[in-house]
Amino acid sequence: MHARTKLAKEHEVIVVSPNAKWNWIPSNIWVGIGWMKPEQVTFELAPVYQKTGVNFVQAKALEIHPEGSADNPEPHVVIEYTSETKKGIKDTVSYDYLINATGPKLNFAATEGLGPEHNSLSVCTYGHAVDAAARLQESIERMKRGERQTLLIGTGHGLCTCQGAAFEYIFNVEFELRRQKVRDKADIIWISNEEELGDFGMGGMHVRRGGYITHSRVFTESLYTERGISWITRAHVNKVEANAVHYETLEGEHKTQNFDFAMLLPPFAGVGLKAFTRSGEEITEQLFAPNGFMKVDADYSGKPYEEWTPEDWPSTYQSPHYKNIFAIGIAFAPPHAISRPMKSPSGTPIFPAPPRTGMPSGVMAREIAFNIVDMINGKADQPTRTASMAKMGAACIASAGASLINGTAASMTIYPIIPDFKTYPDSGRSLAYTSGEIGLAGHWLKYLLHFAFIYKAKAYPLWKLIPE
Ligand SMILES: Cc1cc2nc3c(=O)[nH]c(=O)nc-3n(C[C@H](O)[C@H](O)[C@H](O)COP(=O)(O)OP(=O)(O)OC[C@H]3O[C@@H](n4cnc5c(N)ncnc54)[C@H](O)[C@@H]3O)c2cc1C
Repeated sequence: MHARTKLAKEHEVIVVSPNAKWNWIPSNIWVGIGWMKPEQVTFELAPVYQKTGVNFVQAKALEIHPEGSADNPEPHVVIEYTSETKKGIKDTVSYDYLINATGPKLNFAATEGLGPEHNSLSVCTYGHAVDAAARLQESIERMKRGERQTLLIGTGHGLCTCQGAAFEYIFNVEFELRRQKVRDKADIIWISNEEELGDFGMGGMHVRRGGYITHSRVFTESLYTERGISWITRAHVNKVEANAVHYETLEGEHKTQNFDFAMLLPPFAGVGLKAFTRSGEEITEQLFAPNGFMKVDADYSGKPYEEWTPEDWPSTYQSPHYKNIFAIGIAFAPPHAISRPMKSPSGTPIFPAPPRTGMPSGVMAREIAFNIVDMINGKADQPTRTASMAKMGAACIASAGASLINGTAASMTIYPIIPDFKTYPDSGRSLAYTSGEIGLAGHWLKYLLHFAFIYKAKAYPLWKLIPE
């Protein structure tokens, strides 16, 4: 939409996306406890794109042909329609500039028995969240009949990211159980691949509070303790059965945890796009990292943790192979994790993958759109704006209970997202701009943002004034 507003009518902006509806993903956690309905977190995309002059193609991209092909000399993407009327039909979309913003493949298959089609639930899509809410209510009904229930919430693999979403869900579930007056009948357990609570895939963070500098581990542990939630960290879940998870720990132990209700996030992978040269030779391995995310202007040398620097992170998101291809949000391949990489004695990697949350994803999308506009308009012949996560801050409000009267949310800001120990030798981040605070006002703000971002996504008047 940013590109469309800046470009003359003769230029075409095309969005290829498989879903007819747009989903405000952060509020899926509220769908997952039954506080919101799917209609409140989604809307039809076609009318919005029609209004804004963007061509919407309801399809999924399968292949990129950056040099064209024998029967189509222009760079193009092979797509497969997903709309009711054209479902399954293949076609091509030509481009001058391509932005890959395909997000994650929810890789449930990485862990045996993981996911809504098997033995655990998810809140990653609104559909998953609806199922989770129904199963949660079943558990609550059992509690009302006097049965004790064990609820297990967290990450379903040693390399998961998105701990923040699982954190929000566990606290909203705990709040809901209190609201329905069955809290005393539930054991609520957190399980994750974090080295310590409060890591969140960002190696944790330090904040100044009451005259002290405190690590996020301390305030996260006190929050869990306050709400009576126990925790298992440093865990790689390797199998989910109907009522139990099996996991390996960083210490090398193999353990089992029983559950009645389990919401376990999957690890993320790229969506599996393939790429080919003009002669038809497959170059997927050149354009994409082994995990399926697209390589951009980052340092992929695989250097050890001790040598990581902020400069390893990309700033223009341009493919090193094809200068008119960009990848943003979750779709780009990060150079490495942010949290310290750890392995169990048997060599199983157990540490969070780096999060690419909404705000940085939105900011990089906007800057890359403006760079492309400048190149189209002849104002530049290469990207001039940058959006490195090493030079960017992020704000995040993590809901910890949905109620306008006694709800809570943890409001966090962090700067920079990627720690920079040269500039900030103590904790890698600015203590002036890194903060955390929990309270009712946080919930009001999170609730307000739900409406603000849906307003923006619907391109209502002055949508551009609402920041990413
Ligand atoms: C439950 C949950 C709660 C979250 N809460 C927060 C929060 O409170 N704050 C925050 O900052 N972040 C939050 N996040 C993270 C946030 O949702 C992501 O950072 C953000 O959605 C990433 O944007 P993206 O555009 O990279 O990917 P997505 O939003 O996943 O968008 C990718 C799009 O590409 C489409 N697509 C997939 N495959 C193809 C294909 N082959 N061809 C074409 N299109 C394709 C998808 O359908 C989708 O529309 C949350 C995530 C989850 C799962």
